[in-house]
Amino acid sequence: NQGRLARHHQREAQTDALTGLLNRRALFDLHGKTPVNAFTAVVVFDLDGFKAINDQFGHAAGDEVLRVFAEVLCADLRPNDSVARMGGEEFAMVLRRILTEVAGATAERVRAAFAVRTVETETGPLCCTVSAGFAFGSTDGMSFDKVLSAADKALYAAKRAGRNRVLDFRLAG
Ligand code: GH3
Ligand code: MG
Ligand code: MG
Repeated sequence: NQGRLARHHQREAQTDALTGLLNRRALFDLHGKTPVNAFTAVVVFDLDGFKAINDQFGHAAGDEVLRVFAEVLCADLRPNDSVARMGGEEFAMVLRRILTEVAGATAERVRAAFAVRTVETETGPLCCTVSAGFAFGSTDGMSFDKVLSAADKALYAAKRAGRNRVLDFRLAG
């Protein structure tokens, strides 16, 4: 019983309550200390104009949008992949044993699937989009932090380029 309770608390500490995804800490527990190889990609997602959605439709509707996005993220996950809510409207995905084109295509599929989703709210239907950036590790192994911040740079470039798009760190400038 004590053991069950401890496991319950541990799971709770690693789970994002709103979406049921791993939280940031759990993602770092899983990947933070392992060097990232050239066949592992980190994708970061950030919902577009999310503050305006909260302002216009209310916080509860915003929460529902976050749940819907989490659902889209998980839709075609492979067994080796992990997804997490990093905080706020930011999410990350770690794809292992994946080729460059496939990582980009996976992120693009999430973006496209989310863009066509409609979320019903008390004040009517709403649509939201997401921007993403991704980066790979290297042959000699790169720190998880470094890959994450490269992906973040690409995400920032995707925002600057007009949002609702996916950018590869190597092409982000
Ligand atoms: P950008 O396209 O540049 O990303 O703009 P943005 O409005 O999405 O970004 P910004 O960082 O200005 O706003 C993020 C908003 O996300 C602000 C905050 O109130 C909201 N937010 C963070 N966490 C939650 C949450 O758990 N639920 C809801 N409903 N809103 C949240
Ligand atoms: Mg943000
Ligand atoms: Mg945002």
